[in-house]
Amino acid sequence: MKKSRFRFCIAAVLNPKNDRKCEFFPRGMLVIREGSPATIHEVISYAVGRVKYQREITSTNLIDFGSAVILPGFFDMHFHWVQDDVREMPKASLLKWLENYTFPAESKFKSARYSKQKATVFFKRLSSVGTLGGGCYSSIHWCALEAALKNVKGDFVVGNVLMDMNAPKELLQTEGEALAITRRAISKFGRRVAFTPRFAITTTPKVMTAGGLLADQAGCFKQSHLSETPQEIEFVLGLFRKLKGFEKVRSYTDIYHKTNMLGPRSLMAHGIHLTHPELKTLQQTKTAIVHCPTSNAPVKERGIGSGLFDFKRIERAKIRWALGSDIGGGPFLSMLDVMRSFVDQNKSAGISGATGVKALYRATLAGAEILQVSARTGNLDAGKEANFIVLPLEKNIRIKTAESLLQAILKRDSKKRSRYDDRVSYVSFQGKTLFDRLSTKSVTSK
Ligand SMILES: [Zn+2]
Repeated sequence: MKKSRFRFCIAAVLNPKNDRKCEFFPRGMLVIREGSPATIHEVISYAVGRVKYQREITSTNLIDFGSAVILPGFFDMHFHWVQDDVREMPKASLLKWLENYTFPAESKFKSARYSKQKATVFFKRLSSVGTLGGGCYSSIHWCALEAALKNVKGDFVVGNVLMDMNAPKELLQTEGEALAITRRAISKFGRRVAFTPRFAITTTPKVMTAGGLLADQAGCFKQSHLSETPQEIEFVLGLFRKLKGFEKVRSYTDIYHKTNMLGPRSLMAHGIHLTHPELKTLQQTKTAIVHCPTSNAPVKERGIGSGLFDFKRIERAKIRWALGSDIGGGPFLSMLDVMRSFVDQNKSAGISGATGVKALYRATLAGAEILQVSARTGNLDAGKEANFIVLPLEKNIRIKTAESLLQAILKRDSKKRSRYDDRVSYVSFQGKTLFDRLSTKSVTSK
């Protein structure tokens, strides 16, 4: 029998295009063109597709997902895979939480065996929540970076954090060590590596500048944290103004600007407390911000309580931004919980415009655009890789518009948020099954 050129998936389909537009088929058909990688041939309504492809459809190349919705895979643009064990620890303040829980947890990754064991479990779970791309932080250790890059599936950049000052003894590197591991990582893994000074507090200007140059020469991304809490900003400025060459530095952003950390391949997490001149610098350097609403949320919502990100101000300043979970600052892996938090926090503050459609765009295509992979992934446009997830729906769910469907999905588990992590039933990466809840164990594609 001739092998079919196509595969057909039937369900509702949401295809995000931008902040205001999301293509929606209440009963749609995703037509996948077989190949390596398999790609999206088109998305159409089932009623049209069943006639158009009647000669191609067979009992073996058609999957009806029933009451479910197909979405592109998520991009989580900021998370720390080595903080999986501290996601739900008490977070009274950022700096205390780092000291009491995060640093001790990250120290354990000096063991290659532990790193391997943890990475196998963590990255399978990451696939199972539908996250297929993003920016990932590892610990300072080589073996943890290697384990992450071996196990991660999708379009990710991963960086070993660099800490050559103000870190606990067991996580402190020398300047030479920080630069040597940067050189080694870039030469072995190329653009899969992101240059990752943890934040200005822990990384000397020399490491940021010299390492940043290596990253630029190799075309690698750079990532760090910027202006998450007022105490952190105060601490950073106090610290740097004592350093030679930084006496007159005006802001946190200026420190990164002076150390060559900003640019079109730079991802700065948080950016909540920024002054107008800082916004201007970020815009001029084309730096992107990653907004992590579940991490920034009040402590009673299991976040760090860093404040509400003013997305309208960032957009007015024409700065690119996307969503991230900030695991373990954020408590749950699923980008559905991150989207819900973005929508809810803005709604409670009386701010309009934080819609489900916007949240979906910022959790998918916006991330792919920032990572410069949107020509081949990020949404379900024709010609892109078959990277998608399936989310089962309750039978009586309202699916009149993309917005009402998204609102219903995001609201469903708001009282028991850990459930979002178990919502996705099927994940395809480049047309291969990465996760299938119906099979007993997740399948990893080679
Ligand atoms: Zn973070």
